[in-house]
Amino acid sequence: MLQILRAPALLAGLLHASAAMAFSASGHEFSGALADRLLSPHAARQVQLVLGMKLAVAATWADCAKDVAPGPAGFHYVPNPRFHPACEHFETPPGRARMADYVRRNWNVCSSASEGVACHKAYHFSDVAVQHERYDRRFIGTSDHDVVSALNATIAVLRERPAPPPFSIRDRKEALLLLAHLVGDVHQPLHVGAVYLDARGAPVDPDAGAAASSVNTTRGGNSITDGATNLHALWDAIPPQLQPSRIDKARLAAARRIAANPLDPSAWPAAWATETLLASREAFDGLAFQPDAAKPGRWTVEYADRAAYIERKQAIQAQQLLRAGARLAQLLNALWP
Ligand SMILES: [Zn+2]
Repeated sequence: MLQILRAPALLAGLLHASAAMAFSASGHEFSGALADRLLSPHAARQVQLVLGMKLAVAATWADCAKDVAPGPAGFHYVPNPRFHPACEHFETPPGRARMADYVRRNWNVCSSASEGVACHKAYHFSDVAVQHERYDRRFIGTSDHDVVSALNATIAVLRERPAPPPFSIRDRKEALLLLAHLVGDVHQPLHVGAVYLDARGAPVDPDAGAAASSVNTTRGGNSITDGATNLHALWDAIPPQLQPSRIDKARLAAARRIAANPLDPSAWPAAWATETLLASREAFDGLAFQPDAAKPGRWTVEYADRAAYIERKQAIQAQQLLRAGARLAQLLNALWP
């Protein structure tokens, strides 16, 4: 997140981090279930050994852990009823203890903590300005604890190497729990690319020095209102045809046609983010923004044709979920050949 954020934006930043359930639970379950079907027999055995559950189940864990909060008796899990069904599997006593322990170790170990965002919540996204054509750590909206950095940390641990700071990843099971989720997040266009808007609602590039003083973040679209919802939530919502139960032969065949990256897996997360950034440019294409006079730091979105936009959104979501499932399997098949 931006260093220049001011107090009201910080509060909203907390909302961004906690309300964001990228691709909703069913989206994560979809990409996890797809990956389960695409694993090699050896990788599938390793997943079962390390994780003890299907990727489709593991894929929601990192969002469930967001319901861990600090209290007088230490960190503890207080389930949000809205997400409860997707978290049920982790609500055993050892499951709750694991979530609380992970959050405790990843609470205030990064710069986001001083800006009011618990570090483990910042692991789920980046906010690269859509004017860019690639993900690059030099850009505003990236960090050593954004979604790309977090994915690289999980890959390191799965390779039995230490996690780079600021991450604390206890073991390969925790790494795989995180990986199964974050591969979904890095394919959600509004978890990677962002528009930065000035006071008139015009897009600005925060990396083009001159505009920096008037730049304001839209927090992954959470600050852009669309009727009763917001742009981030709109992109988290998954249409019925993309529920996990709807994975059929045609989708499996399409996922198998997605080529694997020939580079070392450590280069894959940034490449995925670059591809998703291009999808987020499509997600913002043709939209106009009006500042909300009553609420500084908030805007409303205007569509040329909202129905056509929703159709385009669903096509992009289908493509991105397919990619997420394929990439998760490709990565595990590469790590466990
Ligand atoms: Zn997430």
